[in-house]
Amino acid sequence: MTSPDPVLITGCSSGIGEATALMLVRAGHTVYATARRPETLADLEIAGARILALDVTDEESMAAAVKTVEDEQGSVGTLVNNAGYGEYGPVEETDLARVRTMFETNVFGLSRLTQLVLPGMRRAGRGRVVNISSMGGRIVFPVGGYYHASKYAVEAISDALRVEVKPFGIDVVVVEPGLIRTGFEGRVNEGIASDAGLTSGQSAYAELLAKSEKATADSYSTRLAVGPDSVAKVVLKAVEADRPRTRYVVTPAARAMIALRKLGGDRVWDTFVRAQFKL
Ligand code: NAP
Repeated sequence: MTSPDPVLITGCSSGIGEATALMLVRAGHTVYATARRPETLADLEIAGARILALDVTDEESMAAAVKTVEDEQGSVGTLVNNAGYGEYGPVEETDLARVRTMFETNVFGLSRLTQLVLPGMRRAGRGRVVNISSMGGRIVFPVGGYYHASKYAVEAISDALRVEVKPFGIDVVVVEPGLIRTGFEGRVNEGIASDAGLTSGQSAYAELLAKSEKATADSYSTRLAVGPDSVAKVVLKAVEADRPRTRYVVTPAARAMIALRKLGGDRVWDTFVRAQFKL
């Protein structure tokens, strides 16, 4: 196998990014762990990661990080596009300015950083792009429409890119985690709560929101949810495999729901979701 190193990872201040950076460092890889607040990366630096500031919504920050890696290592070997978050709310009532901001991170940040590393990968004749999508890039829950749209976009971009860059020796891999215990869920609820219209009880969707919040909290507190190391292990596999799979689903529950969605069709899926949310 050609070396997958160095590995550049976004969003390493917490959760999946942090766990992945640590696991890859421990497996002996040269890892550039990045975050928009690099002071959050002190533990990863002690563990042996190289750390860089990188905000995926800031062109200069992205260009500077890629230049540093290329100056030191020639080219980025593997890019793990992990930075992302969920802007949740009913389709009708969600502030589209907030949705656009989420797309800047989840979709355009991922796309732009990928554009910046590809010339170096093409020159090197090797490379790998690992995009952290979600089971939410294959299935959709109410109140998550815009977040899911951002992950469906990641899936589509990855499918196009995979074919485009294959001739240059570059692989594209999508990782689709299910419920993972990280900062993600807290940020979802904070986001919904910070929207005055929804907390004042004025929302036409108040009942749905209450049920969604409960269903989300309940499912993250069961064994259906796992720690971020489960995703890190899969990313490690995707990085080290001679011939990586195009997609890796993480958690049995995510696999089951994606299968139900695919085999059951729209009506079966809607019935399942309504039962889950007690609607
Ligand atoms: P997390 O603990 O909240 O981590 C999200 C990371 O993204 C943080 O490091 C955050 O940095 C970073 N980030 C946000 N905006 C950024 C920006 N503009 N530039 C650079 N970094 C930015 O949540 P997580 O679960 O590990 O999320 C990681 C990825 O997994 C996301 O793409 C998420 O959609 C996906 N995912 C999560 C789950 C789940 O259940 N947890 C399931 C499926 C997919 P700050 O600390 O600076 O905000």
